[in-house]
Amino acid sequence: MGELLEGDEFQCHAYLVEQGDESVLIDAGAAPSFRHVLAKVEEVVPLASIRWFVVHHPDPDITGCLPLLDQLVTRPDAAVVTHWRAEALLKHYGLDLPFWRVEEHGWALPLEDRTLQFVLTPYLHFPGAFVTFDPASGTLFSSDLFGAFTPEPRLHVQDERYFEGMRLFHEHYMPSQEILQHGLAELEPLPIQRIAPQHGGVIPEALVRPAMAFLDKVECGLYLSSKHDHDVRRMSAVNRALRQAVRLLTVTHQLPELVQGLTEIVQDVLPVRDIQLYGSWADGLMLLDSATRFRGVPAALPNHLAPWMGICRDRWSPATSFITDPEGAPLVALPLFSMEGECARHLAVLELSAPIEADALAVHILEELSTPLEVALDREMLLREVQQRRQELYELATRDALTGLYNRHYFHGAAARMAALQDRGRGGTLVVSMLDIDRFKDINDTFGHAAGDIVLARLALALQETIREEDLAVRMGGEEIAVFHLHHPHTDDEEELAERIRQATEALDFGPLLGGRKITLSGGVAARRPRESLDSVLQRADQALYAAKQAGRNRVIVAAELEAEPLPSAVGHPLRRPSQVGAPLRGGMAALRPPSRFRVPRRGGVE
Ligand code: GH3
Ligand code: MG
Ligand code: MG
Repeated sequence: MGELLEGDEFQCHAYLVEQGDESVLIDAGAAPSFRHVLAKVEEVVPLASIRWFVVHHPDPDITGCLPLLDQLVTRPDAAVVTHWRAEALLKHYGLDLPFWRVEEHGWALPLEDRTLQFVLTPYLHFPGAFVTFDPASGTLFSSDLFGAFTPEPRLHVQDERYFEGMRLFHEHYMPSQEILQHGLAELEPLPIQRIAPQHGGVIPEALVRPAMAFLDKVECGLYLSSKHDHDVRRMSAVNRALRQAVRLLTVTHQLPELVQGLTEIVQDVLPVRDIQLYGSWADGLMLLDSATRFRGVPAALPNHLAPWMGICRDRWSPATSFITDPEGAPLVALPLFSMEGECARHLAVLELSAPIEADALAVHILEELSTPLEVALDREMLLREVQQRRQELYELATRDALTGLYNRHYFHGAAARMAALQDRGRGGTLVVSMLDIDRFKDINDTFGHAAGDIVLARLALALQETIREEDLAVRMGGEEIAVFHLHHPHTDDEEELAERIRQATEALDFGPLLGGRKITLSGGVAARRPRESLDSVLQRADQALYAAKQAGRNRVIVAAELEAEPLPSAVGHPLRRPSQVGAPLRGGMAALRPPSRFRVPRRGGVE
């Protein structure tokens, strides 16, 4: 029985346990509402029938009426039922009413047809706070526990929507989650059928256990997590956002989902449209954002963001982070501080859909978001650094240091995969082009080994520009390079690629390095027959290469042409290199191509 006070979200309720001459009035209330409460009490029993005045804790909205009561109550056996810790405060009212201490009476008050039980729920939110359980009706008079802020007050709780009001009521009012959980644990064994809190509404039996389970998870002690902010509502909003953010950070390890989720969470408090992240790592700065699909692109920090990268905590004031980009779009440049680090290594840019004031709410959420976001980004950068290092080691193991081409330890697997594609009728015929620089020893001897190295490196570069990404170029050793590619019979001839490389090599200008001298190379090309082994096709390409050398160098020869019409002295034993004699008579491949009637029809290459 309380009075519905206009605009009072607390809605204090007093409760009467009617026991004839031994009636009990629980948490009688504040001075302003007392007349009203009294009138309601007297609809049931006269004031003179009330012997016990229970005071669960000494808050003014419970005890404000005590001096008035003290004047009205005349029966000599009436008493204020409370804990000694409350009495220590309440006696300052100078009451004539005596105190009846619950702890001195075995925490129970025997009445005519029932015995009220008292349960100590200390620090909820007072060291002597307790609640009352009436076993006869199964009612728990829970005082502040299970109270709620309810915008539309109802005496009886309808459904679980009430719980959100409980959360708002408890999270700042109760000092810590542990203390709240301790109080709940004390109540756990009681056969509660209804909860009658001082504030909020009466919770029916069906919602009793759900309400307890809900409160068990409410995080309290909001003031502990806030630094300067003491606005309860704001803290509550920030607290919720941060709780969601931390949960997200623990369950989501994918950066795109994380940023998306964080954006949505923060949107409850700030008009954030998108978040971009600038992370520092060994290689400089990396931009991670939705526009680049979080691939992580090397980036230079735009000038307007520069002051916030690397800024130290003691020099940062959140209000200064609300800026506009050069086009005037509003954003927040949020430096990300780690737990230990005092200066920000990473930066988050929050794009805003509308300019906002850097008010305490905005500032608070930004301050609190900085570290969890830093943890996520730092984890991501570390991950990428490890990946990069792994890739580097892999490249080191698979690539040749001078030319950057794959080394011969690596090529087998990759070439075998291409061969498998061919056998499955996918992607064309595997063609091996074996290339070798002409008279390279001579270059070394004349211009020095270092010049030879430069030639090799430049040649490899030109070669890589000529081939496609899916082609495989391998330095087989010395100045010998094999190119593996899947050839489509309808597009061009199989020697086309080798020929283009030959031409590109010839076109290279080394200037003074080689005293104006040109470099040429010879090529042997073999198309892999169905199911032919790699060794075999390599051997045939090699054989064609020697034929090219013998025919005068600076040319490309196709193995199939050789096989159709072997050059008389070009091929002795396939594995023995024939001596290279004679100067080139004619340059280029066209001159070497035998008449078409000698060409072996193409096999393999199923498109
Ligand atoms: P041919 O036209 O018959 O291929 O003549 P060549 O001189 O190119 O052939 P040969 O196989 O006799 O010589 C290859 C030379 O390549 C010998 C070796 O010193 C040189 N060479 C191999 N690897 C490297 C390298 O990494 N750097 C340099 N500068 N030279 C290398
Ligand atoms: Mg050579
Ligand atoms: Mg050689």
